[in-house]
Amino acid sequence: MRAQPTASHFVDGRYLEDAAGETLDVIYPATGEVIARLHEATDAVIEAALSSAARAQADWARMKPVERGRVLMRAAAIIRDRNRELSELETLDTGKPLQETLVADATSGADALEYFAGMAATVTGETIPLGQDFVYTIREPLGVCVGIGAWNYPTQIACWKGAPALAFGNAMIFKPSETTPLCALKVAEILIEAGLPAGLFNVVQGRGAVGGRLVTDARVAKVSLTGSVATGRKVYAAAAEGMRHVTMELGGKSPLIVFDDADIEDAIGGAMLGNFYSSGQVCSNGTRVFVQRPLLDRFLTRLKVRTEAIALGDPMDEAVQMGPLTSAAQLDKVMGYIEAGKAEGARLVTGGTRPDRPGFYVTPTVFADVTDDMTIAREEIFGPVMAVLAFDDEEEVIARANATEYGLSAGVFTRDLTRAHRVVAQLQAGSCWINSYNLAPVEAPFGGVKLSGVGRENSRAALESYTQVKSVYVGMGPVDAPY
Ligand code: NAD
Repeated sequence: MRAQPTASHFVDGRYLEDAAGETLDVIYPATGEVIARLHEATDAVIEAALSSAARAQADWARMKPVERGRVLMRAAAIIRDRNRELSELETLDTGKPLQETLVADATSGADALEYFAGMAATVTGETIPLGQDFVYTIREPLGVCVGIGAWNYPTQIACWKGAPALAFGNAMIFKPSETTPLCALKVAEILIEAGLPAGLFNVVQGRGAVGGRLVTDARVAKVSLTGSVATGRKVYAAAAEGMRHVTMELGGKSPLIVFDDADIEDAIGGAMLGNFYSSGQVCSNGTRVFVQRPLLDRFLTRLKVRTEAIALGDPMDEAVQMGPLTSAAQLDKVMGYIEAGKAEGARLVTGGTRPDRPGFYVTPTVFADVTDDMTIAREEIFGPVMAVLAFDDEEEVIARANATEYGLSAGVFTRDLTRAHRVVAQLQAGSCWINSYNLAPVEAPFGGVKLSGVGRENSRAALESYTQVKSVYVGMGPVDAPY
């Protein structure tokens, strides 16, 4: 098998196997071939992960933050050195084209490690004077954190959760998606090579039930999930039983608003990036593209030409711009939405077909004449399916953009800067773009409002997600007791 790892899990500093766990086949989405066979974590594996994490975390938290940062910095350097090999594995795991994985996955993981490595030593408390007495605060790690990943960005998600958790003195047990279990093992291996003490970053494999076991363990202080709203509801509820901290990075149905004064080629480029990158399997995608009516015909004409020029094919070929979807189940789901779009009266501008080749491919698809009530305008598709909706004025489009239970992202294309800021201020979304779309640098907070999530990843905001504040009152005079 071409991507068989040393073992299924990485626990307490080394690869670990327990063949008693249920089989997990890893399928290369571009061919449908089985490229690795793993086992789900058994109770013994889960216990080893939890106990080693709890043991290791206590010492790690006592280490000087600058030393913790140094380890993460070394891991980032190793990732950059091995970028090609890691990118090829990411492509095997997900089916995303190498053209993307070479620049967006291991590299963004390294960005996160570098950012939080640098931040580790900057974390301080405050002193609050109270006359003679005073209070000081300490930013403490939470303890053992659980990270649970989706299948679209397996390396990036492991690093976006692992880097801040480790930088601020926590341990992390990471459960990758059962669809893409390979890349996080490499992250664990590299962290150990960089000098991370054993037990601090453990990877355990499994379907939802394994995640469920981790989330409810008494030793776990925090859960960070990237996944769907349905899973988020379950994980949030399970974490609440133990009053655990949570970060929920969930789904979306984000609006991208194109006013008629926008640079049309930029707006089309933004809409394509926000619908077709990673075969549309990006949570922040701007899948409801609202185009102001005077621009609509020209927009659709050029969008069709540019979409039909997308090179779809073998993801290992660096000239290829679009690969398959990540799983057969996702392909079925996306094809179902395309059928729903046609049945409900949307106009298919281009795509909507399966190319004649093995693997889970669908051609990049654009629907026009989409109305707000259609299924493809309401539900997250997570595939390369763009819905174009017409609008007339600003007030109307803001109301329609916000008429969704989701609130992950939103975008505005216009040359009128005053309007851009005025509109963004009214959009109900955690991450917004003006004259750009889907860039998510580690320096910027990332996360959703409404059903799209709780908490923020990346940036200085991640400090809130992986630390808690202790306040210490210091009495400097005699105790004034009334007894
Ligand atoms: P999913 O919700 O099916 O699974 C996510 C993870 O949760 C998997 O690892 C799965 O095994 C685990 N899981 C499932 N049930 C669980 C349970 N009861 N307890 C604990 N863990 C459980 O999501 P997916 O299909 O892998 O990913 C697609 C979804 O993720 C989309 O909705 C997408 O929008 C969202 N997503 C969000 C972001 C973000 O940052 N906001 C990023 C990527 C993907």
